[in-house]
Amino acid sequence: MVYKEKADLVILGRIYTFAKGVNVAEAIAVRGNKIIYVGSRSGVERYINSKTAVIDVEGKGITPGLIDTHAHMAVWGLYRTRYIDLSYPSVDSIKKLVEAVREAAKKKKEGEWILGRGWNQAFYPEGRMPSRWDLDEATTKHPVLLWHTSGHMVVVNSLALEIAGINRNTRSPPGGIIEKDSRGEPTGILAEKPAIEIVERKIPRPAQTEWVEAIRYAMREWVSEGITAVKDPTSHEYTREIIEAYKAIRRGGEQLLRVVALYWAQSLEELWKGEGYISSSEDPWLRVPGIKIILDGAISTRTAWISGKYRGLPETSGLPTLDLGVFREMIAEALSKGYMISVHAIGDIAIEEVIKAYEEALKRGERKSILTVIHFMLPKQDHVERLRAVGGYAEIQGGFIYFLAEAYRKNLYMETYNKILPVRSMLDTGLTVCSGSDAPVIPYPPRYGIYSLVSRLDMLGIELNRGEAISIAQAFATYTSEASKCLGMEDIIGSIEVGKLADIVVWDRDPLSMRDPKELLEIKPLYTIVDGKIIYRGANR
Ligand SMILES: [Zn+2]
Repeated sequence: MVYKEKADLVILGRIYTFAKGVNVAEAIAVRGNKIIYVGSRSGVERYINSKTAVIDVEGKGITPGLIDTHAHMAVWGLYRTRYIDLSYPSVDSIKKLVEAVREAAKKKKEGEWILGRGWNQAFYPEGRMPSRWDLDEATTKHPVLLWHTSGHMVVVNSLALEIAGINRNTRSPPGGIIEKDSRGEPTGILAEKPAIEIVERKIPRPAQTEWVEAIRYAMREWVSEGITAVKDPTSHEYTREIIEAYKAIRRGGEQLLRVVALYWAQSLEELWKGEGYISSSEDPWLRVPGIKIILDGAISTRTAWISGKYRGLPETSGLPTLDLGVFREMIAEALSKGYMISVHAIGDIAIEEVIKAYEEALKRGERKSILTVIHFMLPKQDHVERLRAVGGYAEIQGGFIYFLAEAYRKNLYMETYNKILPVRSMLDTGLTVCSGSDAPVIPYPPRYGIYSLVSRLDMLGIELNRGEAISIAQAFATYTSEASKCLGMEDIIGSIEVGKLADIVVWDRDPLSMRDPKELLEIKPLYTIVDGKIIYRGANR
């Protein structure tokens, strides 16, 4: 027999296919952007000729490319490109903070804003907060706004206060604080949204070119952690700009990874406006198949809509973030159009409302499409079963356990805390569970989520209901074969199978046979391959 089909790329190692049937293989052959063979070392030989590139990493693990099913990648990129990084330890004093602003000012035209994020006075030898007068030492020609690491406070310079019209006579708005010194002068510290907004409103919206630059930057970074596809729910305020920026990048043919973007709507009017952006295109690089809606808050801010009470805040159980009647209408309307729908719901009451809306709309015979619940943090077993019954998927964030469990312990009573993310129960019930980071809420690398799904430990080593731990293979499935379903792309990505697109990660060790889950925190790609091309080469090759 003559094999005319030669491979452009052959990969040899311990291959975890995440396909039904064959689970482990020794060799993959890729031609163009597709996988043409999966099998044994001897079997792949006939695909190799002098032009075939061969990667042989015996003993190391190879998986499908990782898929982040819920990450605000464009916003993450904007944070990195538009804001100077003031986080500890690179900035460990007010002196350093001022220096960083002075450096940034050198690269900006007079009058252009200088934005920063991540400062934390807890580490500063000066033993106080920075003030407008500190920042004035860096520049009086550029307005400056710097976010505290908590995201609940900023410091601004005198020019920024002036532009915003804040002076000694300005009172703090309800729910916000304009800090003043003993002489009654604003210090430049503003706390909470209503106060911060007064200045923020004056900052020009990011230009289209800034969004494009932000996305390019993010893609370059994210492939270095083995991410080959992302579902980006964009941002409520900038949903159109972000989708336009993705389209521009797609037209330029410069995408490094695949993107499914959602149009973010919080009302019927917004949903209607989204019509021109949403389509049923089956482009393997960029799709905008539907909408994202937020229905409740977060546990860390005690705004998730729960049936119980918050620790130390007996008067609230959280609230829905939009009218429930409107919400149900939006679901029915979006379903009738065949849109993919992803709804943020964290508390059990919010989850109940989403599932009920899905059930009712489907009962009325609306078209079937992909329905997901983002976060799905405090579901009851009944919710897990009903979400499965309507054919819906859960989009979870294992990394929340790693980075945010400390805040959950502070805000929830133990009984509720232990009910967070019952992932094992979800899998045992047969629910499709997809993983994501929700970056920039937490760092984007999937290894944090994988580690916490397997260990149920946070960064301090404190446990969150170990009974809900899953295996490493199951955790990887939530980032590969299962995740592809949440993007509606399971027919073309998510597993290593003949005919699928060649999105593959070659790891620097075998992540699926780790004895100590801690090691999962260190896994790095040697190669990230998207559409048959090596788009990232790791340093340890
Ligand atoms: Zn989100």
